[in-house]
Amino acid sequence: MKKILLICLSTILIGQEKYPVDWETVAKIREEGFQRSEIANTLSYMTDVLGARLTNSEDMRQAQDWAISEMKRIGLKNTQIEPFMDYGYSWDNEYFSLHMIEPDYQTLVGYPIAHTPGINGRQKLTVVRTQIKTKADLEKYKGKLRGKAVLATLPPVIDQERYRKGTPRYTNEQLKEISKKPFPKPPRGPRSPVNPDLVSSEERNTFFKDEGVSVILESRSGWIAAVRGFARPGAKKDKWDRKGTLEHLPIVAVTPEHYNRMVRISDRDIPIKIEVEIKTKIGKQRRQARNVLGEIPGTDLKHEVVMLGAHFDTWHASPNASDNTSGVSVMLEAMRILKAVNIQPRRTIRIALWSGEEQGLHGSREYVNKHFGNPNDSDVGKKVGYDTFSAYFNQDYGPGQYRGIYLQDNEHVRKAFTSWMSPFKDLGMTTIGSQSVGSTDHIPFDRAGLPAFQFLQDRVGGTGGHTNLDFYDTIPIEDIKKNAVIVASFVYHTAMLDERLPRKIVK
Ligand SMILES: [Zn+2]
Repeated sequence: MKKILLICLSTILIGQEKYPVDWETVAKIREEGFQRSEIANTLSYMTDVLGARLTNSEDMRQAQDWAISEMKRIGLKNTQIEPFMDYGYSWDNEYFSLHMIEPDYQTLVGYPIAHTPGINGRQKLTVVRTQIKTKADLEKYKGKLRGKAVLATLPPVIDQERYRKGTPRYTNEQLKEISKKPFPKPPRGPRSPVNPDLVSSEERNTFFKDEGVSVILESRSGWIAAVRGFARPGAKKDKWDRKGTLEHLPIVAVTPEHYNRMVRISDRDIPIKIEVEIKTKIGKQRRQARNVLGEIPGTDLKHEVVMLGAHFDTWHASPNASDNTSGVSVMLEAMRILKAVNIQPRRTIRIALWSGEEQGLHGSREYVNKHFGNPNDSDVGKKVGYDTFSAYFNQDYGPGQYRGIYLQDNEHVRKAFTSWMSPFKDLGMTTIGSQSVGSTDHIPFDRAGLPAFQFLQDRVGGTGGHTNLDFYDTIPIEDIKKNAVIVASFVYHTAMLDERLPRKIVK
């Protein structure tokens, strides 16, 4: 019995020795982060004053200049805006208005899809409903759409249940499940054959263009009052090209209730007229998309680096307070806290505010390729920074508070993370998820074999991201305050270790 107890104790002690908690610094971080938090002010500036930040837009350029000045104000060093790829032409929406004027007046809620053109002046247009799935369906509309606005998508079904219930916080039982069970891998069934008769959105829009349609109306959101819409089909393929944008038809995404109202009126064979005006600004030359970086330089191990970050780019219809302005505000606040408590980290701590995440993790991927490389990818190879990189911490799962952290299948960091979570048990930070999670900027690091992590977050606040409704008011400020404190502490402890954070063994 005694022997077992001794073994247990010594195991715990070894764990603590290797990954100790610096309680004094944690106390300072908590004090600064909770009693003198600036996160609400930072989030408000970004969402209220800067607004949406579509990758490579004028809006984004202005916001990046602000980020540099904010980093300097905090006291960060080596601040820079780093171009990462020839991205394409900038696109900004300058003005938009949409109204139904017949058979009844109503302001319609919507917005133009990114990288589509504006229209000449204010236009009154007749609306025609189309139902196009296959090539044969196209025939029905030949010669009938000139000068019209078309309802192009099928009427969306609104998820009333989700709207009523919202998303609750994780219960202790759910967290327990996450801690012990790997996420099941979805079974890979045989791929169903592609029906060659189906029409893609790109083909459908080309048909509309050839038929002389004036404006395409669509609705793809199943959430009440929320409009979801991204970039025109084909924009990624032609690299957000100016000519491609100007030659495309204008597309407007409309809220599901308004769209469905027009569908139902149309099905009664009652004519619908809308009035629409769209002004957009398209850049005159191709430009590089850029990331923003800043540092707290290290001391005896300053050539080694610990990173934290979040994507700064958003979709264009709202400031996207949850996706991912909240993540950016957390990372900036974490850096502010670390400077305010005057830590002297051994390793350099670097913040990255990525761009091009929404279009496919471009900013983080290009950054990893350039600075660290990827030994598993012969086209990229291993770069100088690969061996001196320690770890990257990212936030991009909404504005909910951290309840734990995912190991990203790296069992070697379990002990460190368990130890560093312990000062934050009272905040609900208790769970190690051994799973790998995806869909955001830690992935390019992880693919290169570098330790990179996402926190396990309550999925509360915001409007699910990518909508016209994602503003400051939807953000649980107390949640992101906690996140800034926790990530500041994790980054600090990573920067102070004798060794870099262990990497998983990739076979
Ligand atoms: Zn995001």
